[in-house]
Amino acid sequence: TVRVRIAPSPTGNLHIGTARTAVFNYLFARHHGGKFILRIEDTDLERSRPEYTENIMTGLRWLGLNWDEGPFFQSERLHLYQAAVQKLLDQGLAYRCYTTSEELEALREAQKARNEAPRYDNRHRNLTPEQRAAFEAEGRSYVIRFKIDDNREIVWNDLVRGSMSWRGSDLGGDMVIARASSEGVGQPLYNFVVVVDDIDMQITHVIRGEDHIANTAKQILLYEALGAKPPEFSHTPLILNMDGRKLSKRDGVTSISDFQQMGFTAEALVNYMTLLGWSPTDSTQEIFTLADAAKDFSFERVNKAGAKFDWAKLDWINSQYIHSMPIDKLTDLLIPYWEAAGYQFTSGRERPWLEQLVSLLAASLTRLVDAVAMSKVFFTETVELSEEGSQQLEQGGVKAVLEAIVTALDTQPELTADIAQDIIKKVVKAENVKKGLVMRSLRVALTGDVHGPDLIQSWLLLHQIGLDKPRLTQAI
Ligand code: GLU
Repeated sequence: TVRVRIAPSPTGNLHIGTARTAVFNYLFARHHGGKFILRIEDTDLERSRPEYTENIMTGLRWLGLNWDEGPFFQSERLHLYQAAVQKLLDQGLAYRCYTTSEELEALREAQKARNEAPRYDNRHRNLTPEQRAAFEAEGRSYVIRFKIDDNREIVWNDLVRGSMSWRGSDLGGDMVIARASSEGVGQPLYNFVVVVDDIDMQITHVIRGEDHIANTAKQILLYEALGAKPPEFSHTPLILNMDGRKLSKRDGVTSISDFQQMGFTAEALVNYMTLLGWSPTDSTQEIFTLADAAKDFSFERVNKAGAKFDWAKLDWINSQYIHSMPIDKLTDLLIPYWEAAGYQFTSGRERPWLEQLVSLLAASLTRLVDAVAMSKVFFTETVELSEEGSQQLEQGGVKAVLEAIVTALDTQPELTADIAQDIIKKVVKAENVKKGLVMRSLRVALTGDVHGPDLIQSWLLLHQIGLDKPRLTQAI
């Protein structure tokens, strides 16, 4: 059976690139009825933080990318890695290297002077017991290096990129797999622990970003050394910004919690991420659930080229989800944004009223957070007049129109859409003005501006919380 994993390092919040990799892993697992595993790669004790682990797990759950096994924490599995390091040492496939950082620096300088790529020259590969003892006596610390044969050809058939081939000599010399530490064989490093874990967790397909391709060549050698068959590899294209460069912190938001705060829904974001590098068999289809995508998913339809991050497209997808969402669900989603803006649900602003407000705004929303600015006049006592708004109120006849509306309201405490229309009609007639003038004046008095959502519905909502008459009176 298919077993895949997402293996984030908790050194930052859940990144869009990691989340997109998680999407592809998830879809592949679901397509094949396999297992999706979460492994937290927290071996870098300096940079790993529990709050990042929390953010990563919350983000994956929010996106609906629920894992079947885990989370496994590498920090709790050190004994496994140390046993594997010991095994390679015992078999003579790895060795202690005592080269100091000054010596390595000198080596790099010399290579640079000769215009050569930096690489370790394997100088401690075959130390005699006497040499080793001498270094130990000097009090030098060591790292564990894994022997890499320069002449080896490393090939694999990548599920996205096709046939891949590397030479051992491209890999920078014998690789460090563990650093010295007080606990015997030391602190194992990324390329090594990944392989030990992927073997232990019986991972069948490693699906990750193409920035790991060079690691894959090294890791294949480690699988062999540890006596395991390498899994299939699939290197997915990077996410690029609109300039075609790798999406980075400089492009603004990159973490999933940022996208959430900006008002993207989980369904829209996960839908959009699915399209970052993959397309469904029916390539005109742009809106689909994870379950739909899972049915259709294969690496044949994953691009080799980087995927450009397109905000306009994401916005469009988000608006599709918002516009087709049931009002009660949309209300649930909007409440936290209103709360974050400090709006209070006092004096009549209860659930039925909120849902009417949401119905009024829904069609104009692109991002959930848009509702904050759009609904401000419904949560504040007074309105701020826009430039156009105050010009409108200065026009001849406006005061009389507003007075007539207030008078009509006095005899009509119940307000419905029909009654509201009726009041407007009567005022048009009594004041002998155009309907447009009445509507515009009413809108400005109620909301401060000449533009906005449906006027009658806005009026009804303000009436229910007793704000229409004071505002009309105030504008006179
Ligand atoms: N911890 C690595 C990362 O976050 C995992 C890479 C892998 O999937 O092997 O990039």
